[in-house]
Formats: sequence, structure tokens, C-alpha cells
Amino acid sequence: MGTAGARPLNVLIAGGGVAALEAALALRDLAGDRVAVTLLAPGQEFVYRPLKVREPFAGPKTTSYPLRQIAQDIGVRLRSDALKWLDPEARVVHTEGGDELSYDALLLALGARVRPRYRHALTIDDRVLDEQLHGLVQDIEAGYVHKLAFVSPRPMPWPLPLYELALLTARRAYEMNERVSITIVTPEDAPLAVFGEAASRAVSATLEQAGILVLTSTHVEVPAAGEVALYPGGHSLSVDRVIALPELFGPSTPGVPKCDGHGFISIDAECRVHDLPGVFAAGDATDYELKHGSIAAHQADLAAVGIARMAGVAVPQVKFDPELHAILLGGPEPLHLSAHATGEHGSASTASEEPDWSPGAKIAARHLTPYLEAYDARVSGATT
Ligand SMILES: Cc1cc2nc3c(=O)[nH]c(=O)nc-3n(C[C@H](O)[C@H](O)[C@H](O)COP(=O)(O)OP(=O)(O)OC[C@H]3O[C@@H](n4cnc5c(N)ncnc54)[C@H](O)[C@@H]3O)c2cc1C
Repeated sequence: MGTAGARPLNVLIAGGGVAALEAALALRDLAGDRVAVTLLAPGQEFVYRPLKVREPFAGPKTTSYPLRQIAQDIGVRLRSDALKWLDPEARVVHTEGGDELSYDALLLALGARVRPRYRHALTIDDRVLDEQLHGLVQDIEAGYVHKLAFVSPRPMPWPLPLYELALLTARRAYEMNERVSITIVTPEDAPLAVFGEAASRAVSATLEQAGILVLTSTHVEVPAAGEVALYPGGHSLSVDRVIALPELFGPSTPGVPKCDGHGFISIDAECRVHDLPGVFAAGDATDYELKHGSIAAHQADLAAVGIARMAGVAVPQVKFDPELHAILLGGPEPLHLSAHATGEHGSASTASEEPDWSPGAKIAARHLTPYLEAYDARVSGATT
């Protein structure tokens, strides 16, 4: 299987998000026609999730990219269906639509599931963020809302949106001449601690400038509407509205035995799913605690290397060793943050007004970022 002259390796990628598309693009570059790739995704579009935070604040509509066009560009087959369960012994994926898809190599890039953690808070869901926060923004503009808390469960689902939403809210209130007091309550011991010290310092300065108070190392409960209980200590904050990040869960894919207590898929340092030959996983669906676009893309690149090697391509195996990159919106200028991912506190931390990675997009992905840039240029060239 997979040697020169043999049939191409039959690769199935389940998912249509960052990890899935990054892996498909990486495989095209690494393995060319030694692989025949099928993308199995329920949606019709790839949505650029990080820019969703701008929408409720009169920002531009977030760009979506048709998966059909992407699949055609990359040269992969698209199946508009969803993975239902996996039969690893037969190397077959059963779909929601009742089909059976066989594979030589499978990448699970299924993302995470979001659930509200606090019954009495407004829990954000990026699929409907504009509708969710529209009323809040209107109430701020009308002067009905003066005190807000932005809170996160532990572990934080994604690092950026809590800070961006608080900053964008503060900016909108300032523009409307409304006085609003905003408190962020976070389990981290410093704002965006995963991006390391220099980044945390720069983010703290931006928050201070916006008049936002941050309570760190704090666990939150929301026992009633407008009441935020802070632990340790048990003090409480009284506010007009509580906006919360959701809790994340893994896909709990039937047939994948090694999921942790939250349904995330356990993987090794090469992004292989333990004890399932030929099966890889990448992105928010995995048990790596930090959920972020550059992590998803890095994992997808590692999985692509493993799959290319299965196809007989002589490419050296790479181990998990991610760089984190982010662009924080909501301050006077976008803040570019980078670090080496090393647990709860990144090392080699930097913060600047210009990116120190290239191309400097909000999701740093070796193959996907340049592809999307070229796609955007093509579309704007066609419309001008
Ligand atoms: C508001 C917000 C802001 C963010 N900001 C940033 C940022 O600035 N920078 C950054 O790097 N990251 C950011 N992130 C995090 C980033 O978006 C995620 O880490 C990234 O999208 C994870 O990629 P993924 O491919 O693992 O999952 P996803 O992007 O969630 O994709 C999962 C895919 O799997 C598909 N799928 C689901 N179930 C099935 C099934 N059963 N069968 C087949 N396919 C299935 C879904 O339809 C989807 O296409 C942000 C996230 C949010 C919500």
C-alpha cells in the first residue's frame, strides 16, 4: 500500500474546519497523487470564526468560504455528510446519511461541542454571536446597562474571545458616550497567560487603558441573574449582565475508545489516536487543553506528515512543538501576540503592533493562511 506505482492511499478527513482544511492542503503539498483524499463535512462552508467577534459591534460580516470550491481547488472529493460512528477494525466510517466510507488513513478533525456552563449568564455561541449580543449592545447604547461581567469557566475554551468581546464592548460604549463598568473574571493567573509574560503585560495595559478591571485566578459561579460569585473567597459582584464563554466538550465519537472524561480524543505527540492504526486526530476535538487555531493547524500538519509517510513519502516525522500566534482585536490597534506553547505560560513571548509571523493572519496556519489569502485576492480581483 502507498508505494510508487501502487494505488493511492485512501485518506478520509472528517471535518471542514481549520484542522481539516490545513491537513488537506498539507497532504496535497507533501503527497500529491500518492493520496486520494475525501473530505467528509456536514456544512457547506468554512467560516472564519475568529472574526465573528466583530459582528455585534457594527463590524463587517465574517467571510465564509464554500467548501465545494475549496475541495475543487485542492483536488479532494467532498462528501456533504457527517461521521456517525467508526468501525476501526473494518477501517470504515459510518455516516449520518447511512453510507459506509472505507479508509486507509483517517483524520478526525471534528472540532469541539459547546455547552453553557452557567444557567443565569448569556453564553456566547459564535454561530449566532451577532444575534446574541445585538440586544446587549442596543441596551448599552440606550443607557440601560451600566455594569457587565465577562466570565470564563475553567479550563478556558479558547483564549481570545473573552478579552476581545470585553474590549469591543468598552470601545462601543465609549463611542456612544455611555459609561459602562466592565469586569473580566478569568481562571488564568494573568490575562492571556498562555501567550507568556510580555504578551500578558501588553494585554493588561490595553485592558487598563480601556478601563476594564480583571480578576485573575478566580473561579466563578453565577447563582442568579446579575450575580457573580467569586472563588476563593466567596465574594460576589453585582452586575446588570453576565456574558460567559461556553464549556467545551469533545465529539465523543462512537468507536474511538480513547476519549477523555469530556469526550476529547486522546492523541500522541504525532497526533495518532492511541491504539487505532491509521487514525489521527487534530484540533479542538483532541485532548490537548489549549484550543486555538494555530494549535489545530500545527496538529493537522503533523497528522499530514504521518499520513504522507503511510503513503510511502520519505518525509521526516515531526513532533508536536507548537508556536502560538494571535491578533487581539478591540484595543486602539490590533495587538500581535506570539509565544512558544509551554503549558499554562508560553515562553519566548512577544507583543507588538506588527506580526512577527508570516502571513500575519488571525489564524496562523502554514498552508491554510496563504490559501485563503490567495482565495480572497482571486475573489476581489473578480469583483473589481
Ligand atoms: C469566537 C472565537 C474566536 C476565536 N479566535 C481565534 C483567534 O483569534 N485565533 C485563533 O487561532 N483561534 C481562534 N479561535 C479558535 C479557533 O477558531 C479554533 O481553535 C479552531 O476553529 C479549531 O479548528 P478545528 O478544525 O479543530 O475545529 P472547527 O473549526 O470547529 O471545525 C470543526 C469541523 O468539523 C465539522 N464536524 C463536526 N462534526 C462532524 C461530524 N460528525 N462529521 C464530520 N464533520 C464534523 C464541523 O462542521 C466543522 O467543519 C476562536 C474561536 C472562537 C469561537
